[in-house]
Amino acid sequence: RLAYVNGRYVPHAQAMVHVEDRGYQFADGVYEVVPVIDGVLVDEEPHLDRLGYSLQELRIAWPVTRPVLKLILRELMTSNGLKRGLVYFQVSRGVAPRDHKFPAGIKSALVITTKRMNPPSEAVLRHGVAVSSQPDIRWTRRDIKSLSLLPNILAKQAATEAKAFEAWLVDGDGVVTEGSSTNAWIVKDGTVITYPKGHDILGGITRLSLLELADKTGTKLVERSFTLKEAISADEAFLTSSSAFILPVTSIDGQQIGSGKPGPVTQQLRQIYLDNVARQVQA
Ligand code: PLP
Repeated sequence: RLAYVNGRYVPHAQAMVHVEDRGYQFADGVYEVVPVIDGVLVDEEPHLDRLGYSLQELRIAWPVTRPVLKLILRELMTSNGLKRGLVYFQVSRGVAPRDHKFPAGIKSALVITTKRMNPPSEAVLRHGVAVSSQPDIRWTRRDIKSLSLLPNILAKQAATEAKAFEAWLVDGDGVVTEGSSTNAWIVKDGTVITYPKGHDILGGITRLSLLELADKTGTKLVERSFTLKEAISADEAFLTSSSAFILPVTSIDGQQIGSGKPGPVTQQLRQIYLDNVARQVQA
């Protein structure tokens, strides 16, 4: 298995960055995770659009042009024989002697890895997953897909210790913003609800695709905030991300959601989403 590190394809075990890479020292960089199904990058263009947005917000230059990045991603996937899994790429501001302010005249650094991944198990799809609420202690620019994930990691670890699959992050007003690495959704009286796009959440690409697809099928959708209390009394709940796609959430903090089984709206949305992935793979 190879990784790509600043212009070179190197064996994964020997893939290293400089000790003064600002991604390593300051988390001064951004990343993307793109799902791969049958060797095809799912929703590649929106992911690259979001990379461009994150880079622009932090005034980091593209490490290579967008078409070149697309070529490198394909080269690495082919070398690694990646059919199903994830491609991870991160861009840091570059390498320079440690100093908080932006160093002059450095080139941004690009690292890419791939990972095989199996689809979620039958059991997970049949029973859904448990989530645990955790305080949202992040900064106020969560729309930037920054490398700085300490609050997310701490929340996910706390959720794992509470035997949950994911953490749902709750702000000071009792509102669920999103998951530690997923977007959060509930369904109430047939209406699908998720936190509105803005600085408070990471605008998930799965979230974006699902909103577009569900809108076309006439699903009632509202982008508004919902509280943890509301989530617990919802009819259904689910989460979305590039690695999980759409997973039913059947309990929150040990309390059963709706029937305690994956709900009909969630299952329908999951199917709509998977059909769209299948169309991209066939194209
Ligand atoms: N929210 C956060 C905080 C994330 O880190 C992620 C993905 O990593 C998501 C939501 C889901 O985004 P996407 O659907 O683009 O994977």
